[in-house]
Amino acid sequence: MGWGENGRFHDYHYILICWITINNLSKKKGDSTINKRIDLHTHSIFSDGELLPSEIARRASVLNHRAVAITDHVDASNIDCVGRIINAVLDIRENWDIEIIPGAEITHAPAEIIEKLANQAKNLGAEIVVVHGETIVEPVIEGTNWNAVNCPEVDILAHPGLITLEEAEIAKENDIALEISARRGHCLGNGHVASVALEVGAKLVVDTDTHAPEDLISYDMAYKIASGAGLPEKEIEKVLKDNPENILKSKGII
Ligand SMILES: [Zn+2]
Ligand SMILES: [Zn+2]
Repeated sequence: MGWGENGRFHDYHYILICWITINNLSKKKGDSTINKRIDLHTHSIFSDGELLPSEIARRASVLNHRAVAITDHVDASNIDCVGRIINAVLDIRENWDIEIIPGAEITHAPAEIIEKLANQAKNLGAEIVVVHGETIVEPVIEGTNWNAVNCPEVDILAHPGLITLEEAEIAKENDIALEISARRGHCLGNGHVASVALEVGAKLVVDTDTHAPEDLISYDMAYKIASGAGLPEKEIEKVLKDNPENILKSKGII
């Protein structure tokens, strides 16, 4: 074999390896685009979380998230923290390839003022309003689930514990998503929440309620949590992709 042939052989070999590599990379990229996470319930240092909004965004980005909402705990005493979240997220939004969404989680407020607080949060610029639902592991005041599902300004009723069929039906009418929670304790109600939502056709999402770095999860883990809550396979894609996407589309965020 002459030098020229040998060189040409190496060239062809090199081109073939490049083609296979590029092909595999683009396949991987395609897959990861399909399976991006959207998490609409997290806490930063503006309430009881451990991370700055930018740290949440960076960690979520590394975990292949398309969007993440910062929804710090609020009641009447600190609802102005929405403004600080907005200041924090504007630069991130502009400069990084992740949608970071300012929000608020109305938490342990008197049930009667949930609507007032939800309106205030929206007026201050919160794009996602979560209500801290009647989880079975905290003494959330009775009536919280009821008042939350009756308030159209609410986007997500988090960890609603032993939510009733009637409340789930109202959530459906008002297009409010019920949450399957990845959080320890709150997740004890997941099976009930999933079955009630399926029965009435209410919308579900899987969120983490992140407080610490290790709380954010991958799409695969979210899939397992949805599956563990008893959701059939054909529902899971809707819960992990369509439902959170539709929430963000309805607000013009994506
Ligand atoms: Zn908290
Ligand atoms: Zn929370």
